[in-house]
Amino acid sequence: TITLNILYSNMKKIIVTGGSGFIGSNLVNYLLKKNYYVINVDKLTYSASNFNKKNLPKKKYKFFKVDINNKKIIKNIIQKYKPECIFNLAAETHVDRSIDSPYQFIHSNILGVFNLLEIIKDYSKKNKKIKLIHISTDEVYGDIKKRKADEKYPYSPSSPYSASKASADHLIKSYIRTYKLSAIISNCCNNYGPYQFPEKLIPKIITNILSNKPIPIYAKGKNSREWIYAEDHCEALYQIFKKGKVGESYNVGSNLNLQNIKLAKLILKIFKTKNYKIGKKVKIKFVKDRPGHDLRYSLNSNKIYKKIGWKSKTNLKKGLNLTIDWYIKNKKFLSSISKKLYVKRLGLKI
Ligand code: NAD
Repeated sequence: TITLNILYSNMKKIIVTGGSGFIGSNLVNYLLKKNYYVINVDKLTYSASNFNKKNLPKKKYKFFKVDINNKKIIKNIIQKYKPECIFNLAAETHVDRSIDSPYQFIHSNILGVFNLLEIIKDYSKKNKKIKLIHISTDEVYGDIKKRKADEKYPYSPSSPYSASKASADHLIKSYIRTYKLSAIISNCCNNYGPYQFPEKLIPKIITNILSNKPIPIYAKGKNSREWIYAEDHCEALYQIFKKGKVGESYNVGSNLNLQNIKLAKLILKIFKTKNYKIGKKVKIKFVKDRPGHDLRYSLNSNKIYKKIGWKSKTNLKKGLNLTIDWYIKNKKFLSSISKKLYVKRLGLKI
């Protein structure tokens, strides 16, 4: 045991904030496979789930239920574990919720990031520098009606969610320039895959099919998004940590754009190819649009392709198949979260 403990204490350590959320859960699994000691810091909001986390190896995984705004505890965790890197995924993430109650978005997505920056700045003065990989979004660029946004494209966020993410990106860039902080920002497109909370489009379509309910599509379903399988995003984040240049931003896209209506039809088609018995109530139902709804997001990801050599591997059909299979096999994930939190339509109170 003593030798084993020394072995584990010498392991390279990484903090993942928001590691109980959707992408965070995928990233924790990914980093454990890469043999890192992973410290998950998450305050466990409505969208978090510690589903399957009980089975993670205790010697390689540690969980702290804490808000990233808590200076004292976050400082202590960093002092104790001296991680090589912090992947910051802790955030409020649902645009419709940000329309109804923006305060929480300012608290977690802006003030939380500010707190992390201050802690890392102070820590890096006296210790080995910690790298911060901050997970941002393509939504900071706003509506991209034509062409694709590269990293130099001006920020023009449309919702309180994307504005809070844009603010954090600006703060981080200022800390890089002024305090020489070792940070890198990634701006990724829409993710889908295992562990996603069913208020988001793809798991909403899947879970409604599984429970014989209509599929709500905003307006006429013409809004278009670029979709990436979450594990491909995790691979990109790891490559950015290993090969990315400090101070830079990287777009992480798949080049797979699809209108929401086409996506819903594709998911229905995949269910049929699985010979899944689709209930009578499962029908596409157009509902009132989201206020300020961006029509299209689309990334130019040439920088990460060329400078880092990363490309997404999973095509949409394969990724959707894997995701649908996961939700069918892991019904307990859905019963572990309260239905009340995702069946009600949000984001119309303006
Ligand atoms: P999610 O809502 O599933 O998970 C967010 C996690 O953060 C939850 O576990 C929650 O408990 C935790 N959290 C929230 N506020 C916190 C706080 N103040 N302190 C500690 N923990 C807190 O979201 P997700 O989809 O996994 O997104 C993760 C990150 O990736 C976010 O920063 C999001 O902006 C970004 N992102 C998401 C997508 C996407 O399509 N899902 C795309 C691009 C970028």
